[in-house]
Amino acid sequence: TESPLLERQARQESNARSYPRRIPLALKRARGIHVEDVEGRTFIDCLAGAGTLALGHNHPVVIEAIRQVLADELPLHTLDLTTPVKDRFVQDLFAALPQSFARQAKIQFCGPTGTDAVEAALKLARIATGRSTVLAFQGGYHGMSQGALSLMGNLKAKTPLGALLGHGVQFLPYPYDYRCPFGLSGKAGVQANLRYLENLLSDPESGVQAPAAVVVEAVQGEGGVIPADLEWLRGLREITAKAGIPLILDEIQSGFARTGRMFAFEHASIVPDVVVLSKAIGGSLPLSVVVYRDWLDKWQPGAHAGTFRGNQMAMAAGSAVMRYLTEEDMASHAAAMGERLAGHLRELQRQYPQLGDIRGRGLMLGVEIVDPDGTPDALGHPPADGQLASRVQRECLRRGLILELGGRHGAVVRFLPPLIISAEQIDEVAEIFARAVGAALG
Ligand code: PMP
Repeated sequence: TESPLLERQARQESNARSYPRRIPLALKRARGIHVEDVEGRTFIDCLAGAGTLALGHNHPVVIEAIRQVLADELPLHTLDLTTPVKDRFVQDLFAALPQSFARQAKIQFCGPTGTDAVEAALKLARIATGRSTVLAFQGGYHGMSQGALSLMGNLKAKTPLGALLGHGVQFLPYPYDYRCPFGLSGKAGVQANLRYLENLLSDPESGVQAPAAVVVEAVQGEGGVIPADLEWLRGLREITAKAGIPLILDEIQSGFARTGRMFAFEHASIVPDVVVLSKAIGGSLPLSVVVYRDWLDKWQPGAHAGTFRGNQMAMAAGSAVMRYLTEEDMASHAAAMGERLAGHLRELQRQYPQLGDIRGRGLMLGVEIVDPDGTPDALGHPPADGQLASRVQRECLRRGLILELGGRHGAVVRFLPPLIISAEQIDEVAEIFARAVGAALG
């Protein structure tokens, strides 16, 4: 039975809509890790607003924070004028960031999307360095505006647009052991990757200018849930620092306790120059910011304007989320729950060779689905199988589990549950997934 809402959506909304194609649900209510559709069916939400809902749907502390803004008749819209809510939000954010970074940091509020904060970070670095090019990574995802899209390490969404800022962006491989470029995995791959970058920046015959910035995700999300090697991140930090190149960490998806640390770059104990934040920071309402070391603060008033930079409800909700994450040590919880889920998935992998690679950090986990009968790559790994991944996703949905796909060929099943998920709920997710895998393969 198809709801009339879904029928009208298909008729009236654009061809560009994406999630509803794979997840054809009309939702009416949500609480915690669950959503309920208009037919009264309940689903576990392991997409969670693409990683936005750190505390799940309608968490009491979030609802209370939003209610308070309304009850006190606070100005809902203030452009970027300050308010007590905004001041508290900044103090909470700076307290959540590593102090070695926050002590010398400045913040710029951006438009409501992550994309806009990426745009701001690019402008900031270009103005501060007086340079124009950018180094980014294969498989990277930083947003959909034409500037952020230029950094995307995947041609699919860029090709129909023709030239973006393409000339100004140089792509390097991102360490990805399961499908590593040049056939080099592990420490040898990391060292080769770093030496290549070092040479690129220091050899005048490399033909490449020093870039205005290096932009990287500490765990690639949309690119297929690929956690960066920590030694590689440290190397990247060292090389960029030596060359005076701002290192921009896009923590839009990996930030706020998702990976088992408050920010994913903390696993490598590095201090970035710029951190780009969105998704969880608004407590499920739209908000994005860029936080950067003060030596970069060379742009002029108005350099990154925008009307919607003062959403008070988003800031109040974001403050509530950040406080809860810290007070309840949700980073440790996410680490433990991630371990538990990864354990279940590894066990299942013994039974199904189609689960080619299981990887991630904390509650940012991915399973690369492969075709064991296909021609293996240079490393002996079977080819990614996006069709089979789609079948697994469909079978999960039929059994009440919402999951999204990512990565090359859409072959990576991504687990991004709310961080408040309990051990019992993790077991339930794993059980549904196991049954869905069995059905998809049967
Ligand atoms: N960077 C990363 C790492 C992301 O995961 C996303 C969104 N998936 C973005 C940037 C873009 O954010 P938004 O969709 O809010 O523009």
